[in-house]
Amino acid sequence: MKISIIGLGSVGSAVATAVANTGLANEIVLFDRDGVRARAAAEDLGHAAAFSFDVKISAVNNYRGIRGSEIVIIAAGANQRPGQTRTDLLAANTAVISDIVPRVMANVDAKTVKLVIVTNPLDVMVMVAQKLSKLPPARVIGTGTMLDSARLRTILSRQLSVSPQSINAYVLGEHGDSSIVVWSSASVGGIDLNTFCRQTKISLPATTRRTIEHRVRNAAYEIIQGRGATWDGIAGAVADLVRCIVRDEHRILTVSTVDGLGAKALAMSLPRIVGGCGVVSTLLPKMDSAEATALRRSGKIIRKNYDSIPK
Ligand code: NAD
Repeated sequence: MKISIIGLGSVGSAVATAVANTGLANEIVLFDRDGVRARAAAEDLGHAAAFSFDVKISAVNNYRGIRGSEIVIIAAGANQRPGQTRTDLLAANTAVISDIVPRVMANVDAKTVKLVIVTNPLDVMVMVAQKLSKLPPARVIGTGTMLDSARLRTILSRQLSVSPQSINAYVLGEHGDSSIVVWSSASVGGIDLNTFCRQTKISLPATTRRTIEHRVRNAAYEIIQGRGATWDGIAGAVADLVRCIVRDEHRILTVSTVDGLGAKALAMSLPRIVGGCGVVSTLLPKMDSAEATALRRSGKIIRKNYDSIPK
């Protein structure tokens, strides 16, 4: 399996390490418009690989080098500065995706390739990449709220003293400020969250839930404030998505792909079954009316941002 990564900044480099550590790729190709950076990353990762899996890691200085890739991960583009929202990156990163996607498509097999989009604002970038690539929407997959859902499960796991692996709880909608925590469908070990709290005598009142929502939505801002950027969490999410695709696992992940056509086309995160061919199907969990309204509002924000791009 050959996997290419475009963009070797903080995120792309961490993604390369995490993907190499899955042991599922026998070749990883790195491209960045800053060739020196890509070559240095390939050197460093190559040395690390000597301690783990046998994977050939190389940097290329043009897109011909990605030929034969079955998965192309796009992590290039501007990141948020402290105080910036993801939407503030819209114009700059539309230009980046518009530069990269046609070059990628000229060098991959359009019948099989899967594009994994990481660049923010994520959902709009998925829409732009899908349109430019002309690939079936199922094979242009944004990491979406995988990371937000992981953050939610991590916070809940501390609150409930149970492993995140036993918690099914999703953040849906925009990978951004309008994301929604869907409490109505949250469950622990197959037991709905409210029943679980009753049985374990754990109190999770509305005020605590609002605090958790706030922490999930603001996690990136806090990490950027302290670390300058975020990279480990998203790298874990991308590696998990790659694993799900390569092994055709049919796991349910909250990824973002385009649903609908024309003026109704919209990419946002919903629980989706993901396998070797990309997104296999999309599910809609149980939601109360407030959650359903918030999800529609989130979708409208994404579409409005997409429509604001000069065509
Ligand atoms: P960074 O500034 O550290 O790196 C960006 C890299 O992209 C640089 O190496 C730059 O040379 C390269 N690049 C820019 N334009 C390019 C082009 N046209 N072709 C090839 N390479 C190009 O940024 P970062 O911290 O690595 O973040 C990258 C992106 O990932 C940002 O948009 C950020 O917001 C996003 N991100 C997404 C998530 C998520 O959950 N989806 C999480 C964290 C970061």
